[in-house]
Amino acid sequence: MSLSFHMLGLFPDLFDQYYSESLLGKARDKGLIEFHYHQLRDWAANKYNSVDDKPYGGGAGMVFLPEVVTSAVRNLRANHQVQHVVLTSPAGKPLTPEKAFELSKKKSILFICGRYEGVDQRAIDLVVDEELSIGDYVVTGGEVAACVMVDAISRYIPGVVGKEDSVRFDSHSNGLLEHPHYTRPEVFENMKVPDVLLSGHHKNVEEWRHKESLIRTWNRRPDLIQRADLSKDDKEFLKELIHKKV
Ligand code: SAM
Repeated sequence: MSLSFHMLGLFPDLFDQYYSESLLGKARDKGLIEFHYHQLRDWAANKYNSVDDKPYGGGAGMVFLPEVVTSAVRNLRANHQVQHVVLTSPAGKPLTPEKAFELSKKKSILFICGRYEGVDQRAIDLVVDEELSIGDYVVTGGEVAACVMVDAISRYIPGVVGKEDSVRFDSHSNGLLEHPHYTRPEVFENMKVPDVLLSGHHKNVEEWRHKESLIRTWNRRPDLIQRADLSKDDKEFLKELIHKKV
């Protein structure tokens, strides 16, 4: 069974290059995921093909018209069995690994890619299941946000990422940032790969990686540490770390 991604917006051609050139293209070739692009203007109701208008109350920018967005979404729900509708929005809840995993279990998801000021609130209330954000910053259009979301969701579909371990151990998968990585040569510009990684001792390597992950998360993202599911040993280690101010 595959997951169908539908993208609705003004620039549907932006997607294909990214998807074709990445692991996602391979996943599509294997039949694990499908992509469908829909031009919002196809649902424009007037002879000028307008999809937006000025905001009531004044202010800069344009707003997607409610009748265009609702017709498009209702039509896609009916004709393409769209199961779940996501509006890409900086005002949405942030996409988390848990959310990406949850969405990877759906059969089909439609992403509405906003532009300018966004979408009329009534259309959001009528046809959108949830609003999701890729982070606390604003990009110029929802296409890039949808690309990020589709990519993050697809990684949880078995077979999309060659080595499933990479998904299991990547940053954020266990609430922590991932440990640092090293490859050849052993010494580069007088900097040596940590001895433990050359030891061939798997248990020690695992322990070192886990501790590095804790140190890195504590130093860079203490907010994640507060929420992570830590063992008694992890807590002890962090206590010492804070004491030593690593
Ligand atoms: N006026 C909007 C606001 O302040 O919330 C910003 C609109 S933004 C310039 C245009 C479109 O880009 C949005 O409708 C949305 O689809 C997309 N977008 C921008 N930042 C985003 C983010 N952090 N996450 C998801 N989508 C985003």
